[in-house]
Amino acid sequence: MKYIFVTGGVVSSLGKGLAASSLATLLELRGLKVIMQKFDPYLNIDPGTMNPYEHGEVYVLDDGAETDLDLGHYERFTHTNLSRLNNLTSGQVYQSVLEKERAGKYQGRTVQVIPHVTNEIKDRIRQVAETMGGDVIITEIGGTVGDIEGLPFLEAIRQFALEVGPGNVLFVHATLVPYIKAAQELKTKPTQQSIAKLREIGILPQVILARTERPLDQDVREKISLFGNVPPTQVVEVRDVKHSIYEVPLKLHEEHLDDTVCRLLSLETKAPDLSRWKRFVQCIIRPAHHVRIAVVGKYIELQDAYKSIYESLTHAGAFRETKVEIVRVDAEAIEADGAAQHLSGLHGILIPGGFGDRGTEGKIAATRFAREQGIPFFGICLGMQIAVIEFARHVCGLAEATSTEFDPTTPHPVISMMEEQKQVQQLGGTMRLGSWVSLLNEGSLACKLYGSTTIHERHRHRYEVNDAYKASLEAKGMRISAVSQKGGLAEMIEIPDHPFFVACQFHPEFNSKPNDPHPIFAGFIAASLAHQGAA
Ligand code: GLN
Repeated sequence: MKYIFVTGGVVSSLGKGLAASSLATLLELRGLKVIMQKFDPYLNIDPGTMNPYEHGEVYVLDDGAETDLDLGHYERFTHTNLSRLNNLTSGQVYQSVLEKERAGKYQGRTVQVIPHVTNEIKDRIRQVAETMGGDVIITEIGGTVGDIEGLPFLEAIRQFALEVGPGNVLFVHATLVPYIKAAQELKTKPTQQSIAKLREIGILPQVILARTERPLDQDVREKISLFGNVPPTQVVEVRDVKHSIYEVPLKLHEEHLDDTVCRLLSLETKAPDLSRWKRFVQCIIRPAHHVRIAVVGKYIELQDAYKSIYESLTHAGAFRETKVEIVRVDAEAIEADGAAQHLSGLHGILIPGGFGDRGTEGKIAATRFAREQGIPFFGICLGMQIAVIEFARHVCGLAEATSTEFDPTTPHPVISMMEEQKQVQQLGGTMRLGSWVSLLNEGSLACKLYGSTTIHERHRHRYEVNDAYKASLEAKGMRISAVSQKGGLAEMIEIPDHPFFVACQFHPEFNSKPNDPHPIFAGFIAASLAHQGAA
């Protein structure tokens, strides 16, 4: 087993996760089994309780772990299914150390960052290696070198490298090489300093990923090489990509990153077969069609809040050789101006997941617009709950219908918390999380899309369609097209008397890959293209 550690320097948001994932893609295409994991220095146990302004999307794994959105990149760029083992936060490390301290496991010794906290971190790397197997583990360390809270992680990987011996570990450092307009020059000083900072704690990076807007010319490479103490061939240009993040693996391959990594780790492999990946990227760069899809949410201004949804739309678009132009619509703007103002002329409307009632009336208005105008509609999690509320209000005549999340005393709780879950909640339990099996109705659009009657999809929510209203909804033409195998909870709805009106209680966006788009997303884009043709 070989270990690659990816650190970041100078600034955050460098695209370190993307670079690490792209390296993983290349190694996988060379036939290696690659495991990825993320170490996050913050003290939260997981990002599940952080709001999207703090943290962007919370990415959910099959086992229900709520993780950093970088794990989304990892799963999209490779084929390993990750678990809660693959995202370690300082909060988890300290929690475990403190539990052991209370249980007397340290036999009366003083508990310290070195060795107890660092041992905990190293144990996790070994645990992942043992339970998941594979040829290479790529570990990305969150944050930036020089952050106080990142120090225990860096110390732990330094010790780990010593333990597994040279040749088995590779330190990759991603850093910024800014272009200074006034001087018309790329500047290497920040990179030199962040490498020096790493050296101070005993880590000698062997590969430098230089993030830059401009080509790294030879003298810049040589300067980084000289001050960074690596041969120029190990200074890799990671230039901004023009069209899509999926170009990054191709660019890194052109820079020989995978060759270099395999050479340094003595990994004997075949050359990577990039043909399918290239074809996928071509479909993004030179699409034959173009649709405009509204995503109506409340964190619309944030780049990362609906990350996996945007990526899934891109995958589905590429599959249909279609550029998906995402029109981000603020649900509160619809409340102010009406749905037609913001949604007229669009080819599909998607309502993503969410919590809390801000913007819900705008989402309900958008859903009504899609239903009444015959515009393809796709609701995800809260989006499905909104679709049920809208239908109950405007088709079933239950004007006050809503979710008990928004109004606990509503006379028509069409969305509510299941009795057993209320009890769980009082005990401190929280959400329906992770992968559940759903059974699809034969003959439903859902079943046609999946081409199967049994599916596995990931969940993250508390509220459910209330059984008491299922009959009235169905009597008026809404179909419950899927239910959970366990408990018979509504998992999908559709309106057969509409070109495409599909919603799901789960999060399909966590199960879409570049060359393997999710079937609901693919169906939604196909319907949007058809709608565009009809319009
Ligand atoms: N707020 C809703 C619930 O808890 C939906 C959650 C979501 O969209 N992820 O059920």
